Amino acid sequence: MEKRGDKSIDLPMGIEKKVAETIKKYSLVSEGDKIVVALSGGKDSTSILYILKKLGYDVHGLLIDLHLGEWSKIHNNNMIKFCEELEIPLTIVDLKKELGQGICFIKAVLKKQKNFTGCTVCGIIKRWILNKWAKKLWADKLVTGHNLDDEAQNVLMNFLKGNVLLGVNSSPATGGKAVEGFAQRIKPLFFVPESEIRKYAKAKKFDILYDKCPCAFGTYRVETREWMRGISDIEKKKIVENFQKLVPKLRTENVFELKTCKECGEPSSGEICNACKIFACLK
Ligand code: AMP
Ligand code: ZN
Repeated sequence: MEKRGDKSIDLPMGIEKKVAETIKKYSLVSEGDKIVVALSGGKDSTSILYILKKLGYDVHGLLIDLHLGEWSKIHNNNMIKFCEELEIPLTIVDLKKELGQGICFIKAVLKKQKNFTGCTVCGIIKRWILNKWAKKLWADKLVTGHNLDDEAQNVLMNFLKGNVLLGVNSSPATGGKAVEGFAQRIKPLFFVPESEIRKYAKAKKFDILYDKCPCAFGTYRVETREWMRGISDIEKKKIVENFQKLVPKLRTENVFELKTCKECGEPSSGEICNACKIFACLK
């Protein structure tokens, strides 16, 4: 595990410790759990896969091939090589086989029909496929690479939209076996700033791309990310930690009933889930 050379560099070693602490504090993993890691090919998910393997967990990679031209090809090949080197099983789900179309076509249709922005559509589809495949792979836990910056963005975006309640499920452990139909999603990088993960991945010399998704432009999240550049990691941590103090109160006062989607059988807040609403536009 150490052959990518972490000896000479002063690593933000905090990361591995922070991940272990978050897992312990929030009881994210139980003994013998099969952990499926949702791999985008970026620094966050690659780093968390590496760290969980290093900590001795039973990990399995799950990557959705979005068919975003060269960008997807490079990410896919990087992850195939990475998992081979670390002897981690990897499942690649082909979006075209799953849904009959690549992500660009799906986004273009939804933009035209419903004026949905790219990241919303992509997020809904990814969550739906990841949940379905995590269950197929008998995952006890589904890990995503969401980090402190993502979480701070969520808090501020929800607040600015005037809908703080959207963050009611914000936690290093969302969904869960308690909620029928969900593979429990966990975010062990919840309290780790993006800057530290970048340093870690570079120090470990992971063979990955650092550029953002080519489709992610002009969205509210991208704008929020831009103006949050002026906020320090310490302040981001305060935003996330202070919001976490509010979450239990929000939960007791607001209970959202989860239903089963009439079309696909996946969990949904309404009669028909958001993914099936998207699929209906593609027919
Ligand atoms: P993003 O929404 O692109 O910021 O990604 C957030 C997290 O979702 C990543 O850290 C991954 O864990 C997961 N993810 C994103 N894209 C993919 C993908 N193509 N396949 C599998 N998991 C993904
Ligand atoms: Zn559905």
